[in-house]
This record gives sequence, structure tokens and C-alpha cells, in this order.
Amino acid sequence: MTEAATHPAPHAPDEASVDQIREAVRALCARFPGEYWRVLDRERKYPSEFVAAMTEGGYLGVLIPEAYGGSGLGLSTAVAILEEVHASGCNAAALHAQMYTMGTVLRHGSPEQKSMWLPKIATGEARLQAFGVTEPTAGTDTTSISTMAVRRGDVYVVNGQKVWTSRAEHSDLMVLLARTTAKEAVARKSEGLSVFLLDMRQALGRGLTIKPIRTMINHATTEVFFDNLEIPASSLIGEEGKGFRYILDGMNAERILIASECVGDARWFTEKSASYAKERVVFGRPIGQNQGVAFPIARAYAAARAARLMTYEAARLYDHGRPCAEEANTAKLLASEASWAAADTCLQTHGGFGFAEEYDVERKFRETRLYQVAPISTNLILSYLSEHVLGMPRSY
Ligand SMILES: Cc1cc2nc3c(=O)[nH]c(=O)nc-3n(C[C@H](O)[C@H](O)[C@H](O)COP(=O)(O)OP(=O)(O)OC[C@H]3O[C@@H](n4cnc5c(N)ncnc54)[C@H](O)[C@@H]3O)c2cc1C
Repeated sequence: MTEAATHPAPHAPDEASVDQIREAVRALCARFPGEYWRVLDRERKYPSEFVAAMTEGGYLGVLIPEAYGGSGLGLSTAVAILEEVHASGCNAAALHAQMYTMGTVLRHGSPEQKSMWLPKIATGEARLQAFGVTEPTAGTDTTSISTMAVRRGDVYVVNGQKVWTSRAEHSDLMVLLARTTAKEAVARKSEGLSVFLLDMRQALGRGLTIKPIRTMINHATTEVFFDNLEIPASSLIGEEGKGFRYILDGMNAERILIASECVGDARWFTEKSASYAKERVVFGRPIGQNQGVAFPIARAYAAARAARLMTYEAARLYDHGRPCAEEANTAKLLASEASWAAADTCLQTHGGFGFAEEYDVERKFRETRLYQVAPISTNLILSYLSEHVLGMPRSY
């Protein structure tokens, strides 16, 4: 993982302005209550209305510089937005990629690519929601991917397969990582990988096939197949063969933003737990009067507060162009564990009712479990801290 400090410095809004943004996000989210998400979850449908409302509100363009039509407010503001979405009981999974996937284009794209796409991404006219990295056989070992893009004159011919490509059916563009030189032919396995900005609208039916995967959560995730798909050579982002570094550059931002969603979830679970513990009377007294019920809620609250501080600190460093990989990884670790502890406590606090759909606890419980695995699993974060921060031997 590299320390990317090449993103343009955003202008940081003051605390009062961020509070106003938080309030406005909460007001928007109040229009999408539990019932809205429950129906979608049951039918595995995409929250199009919610994504449209967040797009129209300008929330998905906060990381795009003003010169390209965004608000250029930086990661600390994006963190506040996603945290409030989740603390309100909503889910940002359907839209968060529109915020940050464009970072690869912003940092490494040509001036033509930036002026062609970023203004459209800022308004939502072009949806850049799909990020094609993971493959079924390579898993976390990204340099072992086998999707190949071979240059033939003015085009690249792409063959291969991706898995867990979320929102592909709801996206116009995909940031795609493919090999342009076989792993056996490069000196270092991180070489020979390239990034493309794939116009999926042009590619569908011409060698690109998308197949939805039904999962335990409503995540609009898919398998994507490339069969002799020809894409213009101008789709290449940056230099051929340097794509692995470009993808790594975006990971700190992604981890910090995901951490903020976990913090939001933890807040939602803890508020829900505390309010139920105050109301639910068993044996003639509120269950929260039993310390066996109250203490796990208090513990979950404290863990979420600590994770929130680390998340804000990571975002602050990122916005100042300072190294933040340690903080970004630590924030993602602490926040995903805090949200999971808060979820487990919330389910336990609700007893049998925690399993009933109408309380929304079981749905959020399933949703927040994802963060232990994606976008990066807990073990891989621990490996990063062990090796790169603590200097212990590399394990893989
Ligand atoms: C709902 C969902 C949405 C997703 N969306 C996207 C997306 O939009 N785009 C995309 O590219 N990917 C996406 N992913 C993929 C996600 O990033 C991967 O699932 C995740 O990185 C883990 O990789 P894997 O599933 O291949 O697990 P594997 O790499 O097969 O690992 C399996 C388990 O083994 C552990 N493990 C593996 N190697 C080691 C090691 N060396 N040391 C210790 N433990 C190890 C891992 O921690 C993990 O728990 C998504 C996944 C899901 C489930």
C-alpha cells in the first residue's frame, strides 16, 4: 500500500458548516425510513430513489474539485456525510463508489479524461459506481488476477472474469484492473497491471456480460464476464503496466470512508439498543436496569467513540496530504469491529424481537457484517499493521 499524497488539497469547511451538512443529510435520510429499506431488502432491489436524492443533493460530488463541477470539500466532509447516512438507518453501499472511485481518474487520468468525465460524474449524468478488481481465483492476492487486456492497434481486447463487481447494473462506467503483461513475463508481480475506464454502455452486448449474485444482503453485486471485448485504447488511465499502484493509491480513502459507515452503523445500533433497553419492561423493570444488559451497550458506545476519533484523524491527515495508511487501516479495523459489536449487542438487547424484520435490527446486523470481509478483510488489515507499521516479517 502506498502513501498517496497527490490528491489536490480540498478546502476544509468549518465545524458549523459540517454540522449543517450533517443535519441536511439526516433530513434527507428521514424521507427513507426503515420500511423503504425493508421492502428493497426483501425484493433485492436497488435504492434508486435514495441514490437520486443524494445525487441531487450534491453529496456524491464532494470529493471532486470545484474546477470539475464538484464541491472539493475533501474526505472529512465525505466522512461526515456517510456517517450520517448510516446513523440514520440508511445504507450508502449503493452510492459510496460514486464518491471515491473517480479518485483514480482524478489522480492519474489525462487532462482530456478528467474534463470529459469528472463534471458528468459530479452531476450524476455519468454513474461511476463499478470497480472491477476482485477475481474468483485470485481473491485478495490482486497481483494474481488473470483478466487480460491485449493492445491491438487502436483498441485493447479484454478477456476474463471479475466477481463481486457491485452496482455494475447501475453504472455507466467501470474502473477496471487487468493484466496487460502476463505475471510470468514481469520482474515484479505488481508490474504489468493496467487500469481502464470502461464505458459499460458501449460494451454491454459486445463482449461484456453481467450476472447478478444473490447474497445475504441487498448489495446489487455481480459477476462480470469479458469475452473478446474491444475497448478504445484511450480508455487506459495513466501509464500501461502501472495500474496496481494507481489502485493502491485509492485504498486509504476507501478505508476511511468505509470506517465512517461503520461508525454510523455503530451509532444507529447503540441508540436503538439504549432506547429499547429503557422501554422494554420484563420482571417489572426496564431491562436496561440490569447491568448485564446496560454494560455491553455502554461498551459498544465507547468502542464506537474511539473508532470515530481514529476515523476523523485519518481523514484529517488525508485532507492535508499527509501519510495516513496506518490511520486509515486502523480506523477501518476499529470501526468495523465496533459496528459488529454494537450490532451483536443490539440483537441481544432486543431478544426475540431482534429477529423480526420490522425492527430493522436483523437487516442492519447482516449489512454491517460485510465490513469484516469487504472491501478488505480484517486479517489483511492486521497483516498490514504487523508488517508495515510494526516491522514484523511478511506473512504472504
Ligand atoms: C458484497 C460484496 C461486495 C464487494 N464489492 C466489490 C467490488 O465492488 N469490487 C471488487 O473488486 N471487489 C468487491 N468485493 C470483493 C471483496 O473486496 C473481497 O471479497 C475481499 O477483499 C476478500 O477477498 P476474497 O473474498 O477473495 O477472500 P479470500 O482472499 O479468498 O480470503 C478468504 C479468507 O482468508 C483470509 N486470508 C486470505 N489470505 C490471508 C493471509 N495471507 N493471511 C491471513 N488471512 C488470509 C481472508 O482474510 C479471508 O477471511 C466485494 C465483496 C462482497 C462480499
